[in-house]
Amino acid sequence: MNVARFLNTGVAKAGTAAAIVYRQRVITYPELLDRVARLASGLAALGVERGDRVVLLLPNRPELVELLWASFHGGFVAVPVNWHLHPDEVGYIVEDSEATLLVVADETAAAAHVVTDHVRVLHLADSDTGGADYEELLHAEPSPVAPTDSEAPAWLFYTSGTTGKPKGAVLTHRNLEAMSAAYHQDLDPVAEDSRYLHAAPLTHGSGLYLLPATARGATNVIAPGLRFSAGDYLDLVEQHRITHAAFLAPTMLNRLLDEAPGRDLTSLRSIVVGGAPLYREDLRAAVAAFGPIIVQMYGQGESPMTITVMPPHEALGRPGSCGRPFSTVDVRVLGADDRPMPDGVDGEVCVRGDVVMAGYWNNPAATTATLVDGWLHTGDIGRFADGYLHLTDRAKDVIITGGSNVYPREVEEVLLGHPAVREAAVVGIPDPEWGESVRAFVVTTPGPTEKDLIDHCRAHTASFKKPRDVVFVGELPKNATGKILRRELKTSSSASTPDT
Ligand code: AMP
Repeated sequence: MNVARFLNTGVAKAGTAAAIVYRQRVITYPELLDRVARLASGLAALGVERGDRVVLLLPNRPELVELLWASFHGGFVAVPVNWHLHPDEVGYIVEDSEATLLVVADETAAAAHVVTDHVRVLHLADSDTGGADYEELLHAEPSPVAPTDSEAPAWLFYTSGTTGKPKGAVLTHRNLEAMSAAYHQDLDPVAEDSRYLHAAPLTHGSGLYLLPATARGATNVIAPGLRFSAGDYLDLVEQHRITHAAFLAPTMLNRLLDEAPGRDLTSLRSIVVGGAPLYREDLRAAVAAFGPIIVQMYGQGESPMTITVMPPHEALGRPGSCGRPFSTVDVRVLGADDRPMPDGVDGEVCVRGDVVMAGYWNNPAATTATLVDGWLHTGDIGRFADGYLHLTDRAKDVIITGGSNVYPREVEEVLLGHPAVREAAVVGIPDPEWGESVRAFVVTTPGPTEKDLIDHCRAHTASFKKPRDVVFVGELPKNATGKILRRELKTSSSASTPDT
């Protein structure tokens, strides 16, 4: 099945209700269906053929949503790219995906100069309608949904690239259908009268959630603006009586906390948080502010947004866990020799199911290393306790000091337990004696010294895990989806010196 059919399902459920709301603009379900069918023919008239890659380098706006659906509809492959990426990274993705068309807006046009001549560039004007070139595409006669094999690629999801060059996870129509089914079944079974608010980049998790939301006939409110603003976000929640916060990174949720008091948030039924760990103190604060509606999920581009989910009413009782496996996937923790690890023992988290990607685009070596006998090796280290998964760290981030493994996340949790520490990141730095030693970067309120924080760690964790030194910084480097860029910290020499 072609996932573009979700739009028809949405129309059948929603009638003439709004599919997209953005500023003053409302696009109803029948309008969206019509525009998408025209856009697909318009793109074909530009020379985009079935199976061709269309890179969507756009901030959140309705045209991004329309182009996503039009790509599915026309049997093209959407390559949504986070517009925060550096032009060189965009250039790499355009080349690697061998794209035919690159769509940019004013904010992202700078990236267009790095692409070679054989890639056509469509520049959307910064207007309410996408501008003349875009309007022109919508004059084409509507085309029927392209007949598409379920195994055909629909979306190339470039991994966020906290390490190395990004790789394109090939998500097929079948994968996206399985992801949507998992969402409906486990993440949010309540369908009626849903209004989603999308504020995280639609090129990532929030965009994936457009699929189940649309199949449900829900209204998708898109937060305007290039930067996340907690105040504006809560205004939209109140104004549209939002039922679902579609996908928020933990940093976004934390910023909402400061603005939440005094707001009418009674319409909210769920807040989905994922992409990075939600630390237990932050979870507690969020539940106190919003009620038991925080749904934590763990996924990755390779198993789109679907590995484990934590039911909201269980979250406080299982601090530190990212939930239990979605009912549609098998999750195992495997040891070095690929044997399943017993409860309580760390290993690599591996996933199998219809949702797991077909492989990496044009990269058989990476595909073979990652997909072994149908099991996706996530690169995440974790352990099960009582059926609930606890992530320890990324395999690549483990620090080995004097032969012992230190998982940065564990030390970060300890540091965050200190009342003055607001953010923490722990990395390994080369050490002639120990191989690596543990260094912490922290953002704190005024007060603690380096020695205070090291003493605090000594009191709460094994001595070999405590940081050897602590660097006080104003903020931690993060990528657009809120993941701390530990690698950047490792290589940074410009960080401020310890404030002791
Ligand atoms: P991406 O493919 O960019 O979405 O990144 C996926 C990675 O983010 C995963 O492999 C995990 O390392 C991390 N991640 C995602 N969700 C969570 C979560 N709930 N808790 C901790 N780490 C997470």
